[in-house]
Amino acid sequence: MRTFSTSSRAPAPRPPPVGPGRACGLSGPTRPGRPATLRNERSRPLISHAPMRRRGLCTHSKRSDITDSAEVSWLAVENLADCPVPSAHRRLLDCHEHWHATADSYMDPDLFRLNLNALIQNLRNVTWLLQKQRSVLPDFANWYGEWQKSVSADSIMKWIVKARNRIVKEADLDLFSQAKAHLSLDWLQEYEATYTLPPRYTTHDIMMHMLARKPLAVHDGMLTVERRWVDRLLPDCELLDATAHAYGQLVDVIRTAHHKSEVGKCTLPPRNRECLDGGFAAIPECMLMKDNSRRLTVNLESGEEIIEDDYIQSLDEELGERARQRYGDFTVHGDAIERVPTVLEMARRMLTVDKSLATAAWLLRGDRMVGLMALQFYDQASKRLAMYKLAEHVARKRADGVLLICEAWIAAAEPGEDLRTGRPKPAGERPNRQEAVDVTGITRDGRHSHMLCLFTREESGEISFSPAVEDPSGTPNFLEPVKRVWEKLSSSTD
Ligand SMILES: [Zn+2]
Ligand SMILES: [Zn+2]
Repeated sequence: MRTFSTSSRAPAPRPPPVGPGRACGLSGPTRPGRPATLRNERSRPLISHAPMRRRGLCTHSKRSDITDSAEVSWLAVENLADCPVPSAHRRLLDCHEHWHATADSYMDPDLFRLNLNALIQNLRNVTWLLQKQRSVLPDFANWYGEWQKSVSADSIMKWIVKARNRIVKEADLDLFSQAKAHLSLDWLQEYEATYTLPPRYTTHDIMMHMLARKPLAVHDGMLTVERRWVDRLLPDCELLDATAHAYGQLVDVIRTAHHKSEVGKCTLPPRNRECLDGGFAAIPECMLMKDNSRRLTVNLESGEEIIEDDYIQSLDEELGERARQRYGDFTVHGDAIERVPTVLEMARRMLTVDKSLATAAWLLRGDRMVGLMALQFYDQASKRLAMYKLAEHVARKRADGVLLICEAWIAAAEPGEDLRTGRPKPAGERPNRQEAVDVTGITRDGRHSHMLCLFTREESGEISFSPAVEDPSGTPNFLEPVKRVWEKLSSSTD
C-alpha cells in the first residue's frame, strides 16, 4: 500500500473493513439541535450485491473447428436474438472502446485530444444510426421522442452536439489541463482550489508537492487531488465524466430499442475488453471508478492513501428478481421521504435473512429510482470519501432524493454531554450501545425523514426487533456533501 507522510513517523496500518459483529469505531454524526443519541453505520457487504465480473472466461476463441451446430446450440441456451439495431449498437460499443483509449492517454495531450475527438463524433453518430432504422423499430416515434425530450435539458448532451460540430467544422476543442485539490477537515469545513497545470504532473507529484508545504495547523482530515481535462465550454465537468454520462444516456436509448423489439440479449459479439460485453449497464463500473492516476486521496493524520471501495450497482430486472426470491415481495412507492417506513421494513427483512445489512444508498428522481450504490468505509475519512462519491453520483444521475440504509450503533449521550463539540466517543465504543437498522431519506427541496429500529441478536442467531421509531432531529452531518451538491445545482440553474 502506498503511504504519504512528510514526517518520519511510520504510518499506522490501515484497519480492515468492518466485519460482522464488530463496531467500526466511527464518530457518530452530530446533529444540530438535538445531541441526544449517537449512531454510527457499519458497512457489511451484501452477498447479492457483490460485483460480478467476468474473469478467465474465453469468449473470443479463434479456433476454426467450431461447428455451426455447436454455435446454434449455444445460442439456443442463451436465448439470444438478432440485434434490432446492429449499426447503432456496434457504434455504441466503439464509443466504449474510445472512452478507454481516451482514459489511457490522459497524460499525453495530443493523444488525448485525438481519442476524445473520435469519441465525441461516435457518441453523436449512435443516434443518427439509430434514426436510420426508424421504419423497422416498433413505436419508434413515441419512445425516441420521449428520450429526446428527456435529454433536451441535459447540459452535457447539448455540449456533445456542439463539440462535435466544433471538431468537424471549426477547430479543436479548447482543452485545459487542471488539478483540483479538495481539503476536508470535517463534514462542515471544506476547502477547494483548481489549478491549471501541465498534463505531465501526476496526481502523485501534485500530492507530494502539497504535502511538503502543508501548514502545521493542518494535521487531520483528508486531501484529495484530482487531475482533470476540461473544455472551455464545459468548465465544470471533467471530460471523461462528461463523455461517460453521454454514453450512459445512449445506452438508455439503445436498451429501449432492444426492449421495444422484444430482444433482451442480442447476438452482437462481445469485444475483447472484459467490461465490454454488450450489456446495458447505464454507466459501466469501469467508467465510474477513478484510479489513483486520476484521483488520489490521502488521510492527513496517517499519511495513507484512501482506496475508493464503493461501487455503483446497476439497476436491472435480474437484480429485482434475485431480491424478490431472497427476501419476498415488496412494493415500494413514492419519493425518498414517503419510502422511508417501507424501506425500513424491507431492511429488517434483509437483516433477518442475511444476519447483516450492507450500507446502501438509493437515488431517486421524484418517485422513480435512478441509482443504487453500495458504500463501504472503515474509518471517518473513508466514510467522508464514500459520501462525496455518493454526492457525485447524485449530481450525475440528477437525483432529487436519497435514501441511506445501514446498520448502526445507537447510544444515549452522557448527562450534560454536548455531542456537537470536540470528539465525542463513538457510539460503538460506549457500554450502553444498541444495534439498530437505520433509514434516512432526504430530498433536494429540503425535506428529511429518519427512522430506526433497535434489535438484539439471540444466541440462536435469531434477531428480535423493537418497534420502529421516528427520529425528529435534523439532517445528519454525513449527508452534507449531498446537500451541497444540490445547493450548487440550484445556484447554477438560477
Ligand atoms: Zn444489439
Ligand atoms: Zn469499460
